[in-house]
Amino acid sequence: MRHKDRNIYQINYKFIIYVTIFAVVIMEEILLHTCCAPCSAAIIEWLLANNIRPVLFYYNPNICPGEEYEIRKAECTRYARRKRIDIVDGDYNHEEWLQSIAGLENEPERGNRCLKCFRIRLWGTACLANDYGFERFATTLASSRWKNLAQIAEAGHWAASQFENITFWDKNWRKDGLSERRLILLKENNFYNQQYCGCEFSKVKTHKS
Ligand code: SF4
Repeated sequence: MRHKDRNIYQINYKFIIYVTIFAVVIMEEILLHTCCAPCSAAIIEWLLANNIRPVLFYYNPNICPGEEYEIRKAECTRYARRKRIDIVDGDYNHEEWLQSIAGLENEPERGNRCLKCFRIRLWGTACLANDYGFERFATTLASSRWKNLAQIAEAGHWAASQFENITFWDKNWRKDGLSERRLILLKENNFYNQQYCGCEFSKVKTHKS
């Protein structure tokens, strides 16, 4: 009887291994534009729990100064390593970003400067998706309650429409308990939590992104 029980356990153990391998093999991969660790952690956790493997793309030429950019990148990289997922480092050219938003410097937050800023970053993400064969991309920008969801969706769908066979996933990342989880993970991981959105024009604000 004991011998028989042991065989059952062995069979179950093998079954679990096969199921795990199968699950890893069929995991969908998406490209996830990431703006910072606090905005990204709960989304990454949710994706992995739902059998979707994100590849992170840190592409934020809007951030000023360069030291702030490096701190946010380092925090994203730290969390990516912890979750054992890949992170791609995008180019950082803040001067070029400033030229792209010229004339919109005095726009309020959530105004036309922000729409342009989202377009720049999501265009870059769509280009990478196209180069590396991702069918879907998303962004962590939409997790912040300070940002306009409609603007992010508009920019994402516009960027995706420039390519064939690429779609933008405009899921509302503030639902499904993710806003609450965001706060928990922020504390648990002791993330650096920036006090402004990113560009020099948002520095006058004191809210967190
Ligand atoms: S406030 Fe934020 S989203 Fe708007 S332009 Fe500046 S960095 Fe971009």
